[in-house]
Amino acid sequence: MAAKKDYYETLGVSKDASKDEIKSAYRKLARKYHPDGSKEENASEKFKEIREAYEVLSDASKREQYDRFGHAAFEQAQQRGGGAEGFGFGGAEGFAGFDFEDIFSQFFGGGGAQRRSRPRKGQDIQKRMRVSFEEAVKGAKRKIRTTAYEECGTCGGRGAESASDIKTCQRCKGTGAVTMEQQTLFGRTRTQTVCPQCGGEGKTIENPCKTCGGEGQVATEKTVTVNIPAGVDTNNQLRLSGLGHKGVKGGPPGDLYIVFEVEDDDVFERHGDDLVVKIPLTISQAVLGDEIIVPTPHGDVKLKIPAGTQPGKRFRIRSKGMPNLRSKRNGDLHAIADVQIPTKLSKKQRELFESLSKTDLKAEDNLWDKVKKKFKQ
Ligand SMILES: [Zn+2]
Ligand SMILES: [Zn+2]
Repeated sequence: MAAKKDYYETLGVSKDASKDEIKSAYRKLARKYHPDGSKEENASEKFKEIREAYEVLSDASKREQYDRFGHAAFEQAQQRGGGAEGFGFGGAEGFAGFDFEDIFSQFFGGGGAQRRSRPRKGQDIQKRMRVSFEEAVKGAKRKIRTTAYEECGTCGGRGAESASDIKTCQRCKGTGAVTMEQQTLFGRTRTQTVCPQCGGEGKTIENPCKTCGGEGQVATEKTVTVNIPAGVDTNNQLRLSGLGHKGVKGGPPGDLYIVFEVEDDDVFERHGDDLVVKIPLTISQAVLGDEIIVPTPHGDVKLKIPAGTQPGKRFRIRSKGMPNLRSKRNGDLHAIADVQIPTKLSKKQRELFESLSKTDLKAEDNLWDKVKKKFKQ
C-alpha cells in the first residue's frame, strides 16, 4: 500500500485548523475531484483520500485520537484491519465502515472495544409458528405481531436530546480505552482496557433522549404477514429479510426467521412428501372386492379393491400426497387396507357366518404343519 499523506496535508489545512476551515477545504477539494465529472488525473483515488481525511478530521473525537496516535498508527491498523471482515476503505461508498476506534483497538492489540464499534448486522429474531395440517397442504397467509429494536425516531439513534449533548468521554478522552497501572513483583505493569465510563464508545451523553432513554433504539411492535408455503414441514424456516433488530453502527438490520411446527393430522400420517391413510374395509369388501371412495387432501378419489385383498395391503395413489416445498409437485398417498372384523352381528349375519364356517374355508399356509415340521413333533 502506498504511503498516504498526512490527513492535514491531504486537505491542505494546518494542524490547528478550525472545524469550518476543514469543512470548506473539504468541499472545495471534493468538488474538484468528484469522480462524476472531474477531469483531474486519478480523481477517484484522490477523492477517496479526501473523504478519508475529512471523515477523521471533521469528527472531534476521531481527530483527537488521530493527533494523539499519528498517521503511522492509522496506516498500520488499516493494513491489518482491511479485508477479511469487510471492514475497509474500498468500494464506491468507501467510508460507511470507517471507525477510528477500530484502528485504535487494533493498534493496541484488540480487546473489548474492538467488536463494539464495527458496523454489524443487527440480531436475528426467531419465532415459532404452529401450522395446521390443512395450512401445510394448501399454504396460507397469516399476520403475526413481532417486536424489534429500531432506530429511535426522536433522536435519530444518537441517544442524546441534541448533537451538542454528546460529549467526549472525560475518563478516556474519547479513545474508548483506559490504561490500568498495577504494581506487581516485576514492577509496574500497564494494560489497556475498555473504558468503564463510556463502554468503549469514547463518548458520553449529557442529556439522554427522553424517548429512548439514551439507548438510541426503541422496541417497536409491528404486524408482519407470513406466507406459509404449501408443503411446509416441522422445523422448516422462512427468512423475512431485514425484519430483525436494527444494525449496529450503520450495519444492516437482522432478519426474522419463522420456524414452523406442523400439527399432526388424525387421518393422514405424513412421511416427507408422502401421506399414509388407513382405509376401513368390511370382510366382504376384502373378500369379494369393491370400488370405494378414498378421501385425500386434494379431493375424493375412486379406488378399486380387488377380490381377496389382504389386511395391510398397500395401494399407491399417485400425486395425492403433500406438495413438495420446492417443486410444488405432490407426493403420493398410500392407502392401507384396514380389514375390520365385525364385533356385533345381527341374527341373520351370525347364521350366514355359521353356514360359511361349515364350508371348506382354509388359510393358505397351514401354520400348524409348518411348526410341526420345524420341531419334528
Ligand atoms: Zn432517542
Ligand atoms: Zn470513555
